[in-house]
Amino acid sequence: MSLTRKTIEAMEFIEENDVKFIRLQFCDLDGQNRNIAILANQMERALACGIPFDSSSVAGFSESKNADLVLFPDMSTIQILPWRPQQGKVARILCDIRYPDGSIFRGDSRNILRETMKQAEALGYLFNTGTECEFYLFKQDEDGEPTTTPSDQAGYFDLAPFDRGENTRREICLTLEDMGFEIESSRHEAGKGQHGIDFKYDNALLSADNMMTFKTVVKTVAQRNGLHASFLPKPLMDEPGSGMHVNASLIIDGKNIFETIDGELSEQARYFIAGVLAHIKGITAIANPLINSYKRFMGSHEAPKTIGWGISNHASLIRIPVAVGQYSRMELRSPDPTCNPYLTFAVILAAGLEGLAKKMPLMEEVNLEAESLPVTLAEAICAMEADALIASVLGNDLKQKYIELKKQEWMDYIKTVHPWEIDRYLSIY
Ligand code: GLN
Ligand code: MG
Ligand code: MG
Repeated sequence: MSLTRKTIEAMEFIEENDVKFIRLQFCDLDGQNRNIAILANQMERALACGIPFDSSSVAGFSESKNADLVLFPDMSTIQILPWRPQQGKVARILCDIRYPDGSIFRGDSRNILRETMKQAEALGYLFNTGTECEFYLFKQDEDGEPTTTPSDQAGYFDLAPFDRGENTRREICLTLEDMGFEIESSRHEAGKGQHGIDFKYDNALLSADNMMTFKTVVKTVAQRNGLHASFLPKPLMDEPGSGMHVNASLIIDGKNIFETIDGELSEQARYFIAGVLAHIKGITAIANPLINSYKRFMGSHEAPKTIGWGISNHASLIRIPVAVGQYSRMELRSPDPTCNPYLTFAVILAAGLEGLAKKMPLMEEVNLEAESLPVTLAEAICAMEADALIASVLGNDLKQKYIELKKQEWMDYIKTVHPWEIDRYLSIY
């Protein structure tokens, strides 16, 4: 076996850091982290010929003919997990997924984003994203199962350490910093037990990788503190939902197109935003993938409801935050943290690129007849089915697979008799 320079570097990293276990990680179609652990002494083999796995029970991966897939570690992503024992350390590596014949697996969402970014790069464009992710910290019951009782009663920007929540958030931030994150801000959000942490933007691939890491860190640290962290978009009916606002910028010829001049957006930024707005209904099926995602849009809180944009309007679907230079961006406020970030960023980028290529006109900033975002998952799925651009990003097979999965979820939901129906009807009819 001839060793490449990359392999040698990887082996050195593993040795120098006394890494004993390696988690080979990938993201399923539902945006969940999956992993297979190997011993460090298997790394050479993993790098040379990959580690096969049976994909039949991974969401969105099963294909009748090809249950076996192979993981190839992307060494640039190796990271020590700081919460695991520091003797005999555990590292995780994100992986590329291939068919046994070596070709790229169609359902590898990380690769889909990478390919979409390559198309942008071919035009000389660089796509950056940064996320603002919210979540709830809930108490656990005596069996360690999650409840929907918030860990505190505090509200927006509250400072006092009401309980374990404050310490947990601090520990989350410190762990993320250990893993190389640059935390920009963290705060108690408006909901009881709701928190938000923003970290620095990066190129969209790294930023999606970071989002996956972020969710693992939040869940793990919460668990260690006896709490349950939930990214559910709307866990409590009367409290705000949790969003994953996506800040996006596009660099063309070294210049960020979202830099405003005298408060005016550039022509290119207007085209990009127009493209995103034109495809937002189909994008919503990906950026808001759960039945529960749509309950977040319904609330009286700060989640967007209609299709529009605004320079400073906080309720807009797309907002242009006050920022200068490299920090200039558009903020898409509809996505929620249960989405697959790779696919979400890929479709946002593709939509923006189409806007630029077709010089799409941008609607008026104040638009009283603005259309509504899809109000149910079923409506969003129909919009996605009709959107050829999304098929071109995901590929027809994956698009079909996604739609099938989501239609099944919708059928499960509508055939269920919910407590609400009993409450509302039983005593009357
Ligand atoms: N929680 C809101 C949402 O669902 C956002 C609130 C905020 O960022 N101030 O999107
Ligand atoms: Mg926020
Ligand atoms: Mg925001």
